[in-house]
Amino acid sequence: MEGIVPPQGGIGDLYSTIELHPLCSQADSNSHQRFRKPLFYPLNYGSVYLYILSKDRLKYKIMENCIFCQIVLGKLPCFKVYEDKKFLAFLDIYPRVEGHTLVIPKKHYRWVYDVPDFGTYWEVALKITKAMQKAFNPYFITYVTYGLHVPHAHIHILPRKKGEEEFVPEVKNINQDSLSKIAEKIRRYL
Ligand SMILES: [Zn+2]
Repeated sequence: MEGIVPPQGGIGDLYSTIELHPLCSQADSNSHQRFRKPLFYPLNYGSVYLYILSKDRLKYKIMENCIFCQIVLGKLPCFKVYEDKKFLAFLDIYPRVEGHTLVIPKKHYRWVYDVPDFGTYWEVALKITKAMQKAFNPYFITYVTYGLHVPHAHIHILPRKKGEEEFVPEVKNINQDSLSKIAEKIRRYL
């Protein structure tokens, strides 16, 4: 629970219960846990304290230990492929094929089916797929939604060459320089 700043100014009782996945908090648990977290942040405005409800800020705050939230916040680097207001796509740093891309919602949701703009989310995946077709002329392109390793919704997009027909291929060793070029190649067709 590091990084959570307790509210100042005597509003310690203004708490709300928020569900937090144990992997995000690195808590030791086999199931979802509930933590009491501040919902309000005080702002000293003259002699009056205003309490600002900032859902987004809160969401990002409580997911301090989620690596994808940190990528969204720019605290961790990524090889960016695509970005809009709600979604971000970047190369998987453990690529299973050349061009292996992850598409995530910028807000933290646990599973792909939890994302409210489900259709728009998949349209982003389609947009990237079309760019990959032009960039790599792949044999075919597959999608995987698994999500047990990082508890932030993500769609894997895997452009396959002939001979890469396994359901989930082995992790490939692709250096940073090549990853940067691969990301740039996809971006060029978006
Ligand atoms: Zn997250």
